[in-house]
Amino acid sequence: KKSSLTEVKIAVLGAPSVGKSALIVRFLTKRYIGEYDHQTENRYKHEAMVDSEPILFEILDTCPKAGEDELPNTAEIVQWADGLLLVYSITDRYSFNYIRKAKADLHSDTPVALVANKVDMVHLRQVSTEEGDILAKDFDCKFCEVSAAEHVGQVADAFQDLCREVLASRRKS
Ligand code: GDP
Ligand code: MG
Repeated sequence: KKSSLTEVKIAVLGAPSVGKSALIVRFLTKRYIGEYDHQTENRYKHEAMVDSEPILFEILDTCPKAGEDELPNTAEIVQWADGLLLVYSITDRYSFNYIRKAKADLHSDTPVALVANKVDMVHLRQVSTEEGDILAKDFDCKFCEVSAAEHVGQVADAFQDLCREVLASRRKS
């Protein structure tokens, strides 16, 4: 184990099918695969430079069960994670409300970032950019709209921005 690396643990949370796995795979491999296992919770390790500092990302791909409003083992995940990437899909109003409710249920000041996925599907948009902006202001966090299907850099930026938030909050405490 390379102990010199700064470790940052990120849990990716959101309703089923918003593209959590697709975003993670994009960040890890720069590729878009399209279909992912929906059943298993996966944990990945990934080294990347953030502001010329080598970071060891540990990423938890969570999978809530369809139809359940509850986040999966929230307390455990929040305890484990240094940062939470909260993902909804612009094509899915339910997934936006899910994040709103999930954040309220967290009762934690773990750094978060809000990510709206599937912006390639503008014709099916149900959640406006402005609504995302307003929710992010409410959470006091960064917000971006991305497409796991079409973007590489913007997806990486979302993970890296959250990493910066984590590092900043560590420096403060
Ligand atoms: P998860 O359940 O949140 O992990 O979602 P997945 O990553 O399994 O993605 C759910 C479905 O949405 C899959 O069919 C993906 O191919 C699709 N998907 C994921 N991201 C995007 C995206 O950015 N654009 C489009 N059009 N489809 C996406
Ligand atoms: Mg998944």
